[in-house]
Amino acid sequence: LTNAQFMQWYEEINSGNRFPALESFGHVSKVPDSALAEFRNAEGGFTLFPSGQRQYYCLPGIGIWELNGLPISKGLDLCDEPFGPELAADTDSGSLTTSVFSVTHQQVDGVGQKILGAKTASGGAEKAIGPTLPASGKTLNLTIFAIPEYQGGVVPKTIAGRRAKVEGWTVGAFDSAKIVGSALGARPGIHLSVFKQSSNGANTFLGSAAETPKGNDQMRLGRANFSTTRKLNMAGTWVVYIAASGIEVGLSPNAQGWAVVIGGSLLALFAFIAILLVSRESRRAMGLATETTGQLEHQALHDSLTGLPNRVLILDRVEQALTKARRHHLPIAVLIIDLDGFKDINDAAGHMVGDQLLGAVASRLSSAVRESDTVGRIGADEFVVLADESSLEGGPELVAERILDILKEPFVLSDAPGKPSYPILASIGIAVGARPSAFELLRDADVALSQAKQEGTHGYVIFRPEMQEAVRSKVRLEFDLRGALGRREFFLVYQPVLELGTERVVGVEALLRWRHPARGVIPPDEFIPALESSGMILDVGRWVLEEATKSAAGLERMGIDLSVSVNVSGRQLDNDGLLDDVRRSLRRGGLEPSKLTLEITETTLMSDAQATAQRLATLKKLGINVSVDDFGTGYSSFAYLRQFPVDSLKLDRSFVSEILSSDDSGALVRTLVQLGKSLGLKTVAEGIETREQLMSLQMEQCEFGQGFLFAKPLEIDELVAFMKRWTSVTTATHFE
Ligand code: C2E
Ligand code: CA
Ligand code: CA
Repeated sequence: LTNAQFMQWYEEINSGNRFPALESFGHVSKVPDSALAEFRNAEGGFTLFPSGQRQYYCLPGIGIWELNGLPISKGLDLCDEPFGPELAADTDSGSLTTSVFSVTHQQVDGVGQKILGAKTASGGAEKAIGPTLPASGKTLNLTIFAIPEYQGGVVPKTIAGRRAKVEGWTVGAFDSAKIVGSALGARPGIHLSVFKQSSNGANTFLGSAAETPKGNDQMRLGRANFSTTRKLNMAGTWVVYIAASGIEVGLSPNAQGWAVVIGGSLLALFAFIAILLVSRESRRAMGLATETTGQLEHQALHDSLTGLPNRVLILDRVEQALTKARRHHLPIAVLIIDLDGFKDINDAAGHMVGDQLLGAVASRLSSAVRESDTVGRIGADEFVVLADESSLEGGPELVAERILDILKEPFVLSDAPGKPSYPILASIGIAVGARPSAFELLRDADVALSQAKQEGTHGYVIFRPEMQEAVRSKVRLEFDLRGALGRREFFLVYQPVLELGTERVVGVEALLRWRHPARGVIPPDEFIPALESSGMILDVGRWVLEEATKSAAGLERMGIDLSVSVNVSGRQLDNDGLLDDVRRSLRRGGLEPSKLTLEITETTLMSDAQATAQRLATLKKLGINVSVDDFGTGYSSFAYLRQFPVDSLKLDRSFVSEILSSDDSGALVRTLVQLGKSLGLKTVAEGIETREQLMSLQMEQCEFGQGFLFAKPLEIDELVAFMKRWTSVTTATHFE
């Protein structure tokens, strides 16, 4: 190729726009010393850097050669440090190699940019390459792709052969920070970092789309609400770390959506690699390259199953629509459509049917909206419609209703056996009106969608700002909970459990509290759901077990002999670790197993009866007790209850508070207590607040109870004081 032909091709594939991060791209020629003079003349003369006579030189030829947008000296010998070793390694490998550098360069009058030194950052430590590192000069972080070319166009089989036959290299150098930065754009609240992983596993930081982490220290970004690390393999291994930080994000980002974002951002880079790979073939192949990049670009922006625009392209379209809407004061709305029960169909009928259904939904959606509207797919069963002013004449409600209607019409899948038909119900979240960014409009629609899902009426909900507030406080809570265990913000309080006949204290129930640094002590009902949904309950639950057994053993040593009850959530029971946790806690605390009771709610017991019964059986082999909490609220039957190896029932507080209000409630308590007795179980009443309640419970022969009448949940030293006082009072009454 001549330089002019190269430039023409470069323009043809629209490289400037397609690869804004590209700094240098072209052919490096290996020039033997004997041919140097001729090469120099052909290039119009240059000064060799570094000067001096060598066997051969590696000089930039056809192409664009710049650093920080400034032209590189034509006489720069790239086989000198820092690139020499890379090009040599590339020659030996015979294929595409990538490397990551930070270079320092400086203007030399009349000749161009000269590279003064370079360094690599690996695993946080920086290593200088080449002679001395100057303090002055401009720096640039480069990601370099190089592919060797050999005489005759074939790759010699041996390393010796490759070294002897190498003619030059096609090289592309990108500004690392720009690859990553431009990839994401300035999306609020999202952080993206890319690392190149070398064969020894060390990560070199390439760039990030937000604040720069130090070296390899990406975990310092642990403040994020959501984060994921992914590996991509293409011409090397790339580690991509994405985090959505800050409360502003306000929605649980779905991992799949982000995966698409990464895919889209790095695809530009990979498209370039594809060009490089074919560049050493003929010019004909270059046409192919253009096609390939076109295809890659399409793939990067569209969903492969339905062919609809994906999240990346949708964000782009919404951004454009927003600009237009703001300029001309036009209405705009985004609708996010989530299919209800799709997962069930997918699980029951198989992925093939599921995929076919999604395809059918996609085409129905496309036909239901106007030409000027955009339909996209942004999640497994999540679609998006961007409606412009013409469809919004009747309001977004009308658009939503039309969509819900056309989906209800059963889908007949002709390919599936038996030609089954499926009506599809959906929930729709709508955000109306301009926002500062596309991201915010989609986020608000997403918030409205979760509201619609929650209502469960298969309808639509239009976003209102209060919804964001609710989501925000939920996110904030989860955010604050993270690390609360490590910061020792949790503590336990203990509520005495008494034998109702004698009013002796026989045990305590351990109840969790969270001392929030700003909000003070928070009761468990407010934060346990968040611990459960985030999975943090496993660690916190383990801590509760250890702390409670330790306290009980400590009391025992002080001569206060009490059993202790610990609440266990469904998530813990589902987990294999619970058995080990219980065993370890008992051993460490030095508590007898018979002194520990696990409380499991009736609803948890019923949710997966068989598996739960089995787990309880193994737990019980340790010698501990199991109690059914909130008993009476879950409508479990006698027969049902019998299959569980439990020791006691805890009557829910609601029965106790109503026990005097009507005959019915008294009868109900009697039935529940009798039920327990017939199964040989102890009964414990919760929430006893008055003497009258106590007397009724005693009459119904309920054996044990707890409540504010006796004591509130107490901190451990308060409990010790309470026990001293209480024992002297009860002993006194007994002797009266
Ligand atoms: P629960 O297991 O039903 O616990 C009894 C609740 O009733 C406690 O609320 C207790 O303070 C309250 N209570 C006790 N006596 C009275 C009374 O006379 N009147 C009234 N009105 N209330 C009384 P708390 O401490 O707010 O705990 C609420 C729930 O949080 C617990 O209900 C339990 O389900 C859950 N929880 C507490 N600690 C843990 C824990 O460590 N792990 C798990 N998974 N859940 C816990
Ligand atoms: Ca309980
Ligand atoms: Ca309870």
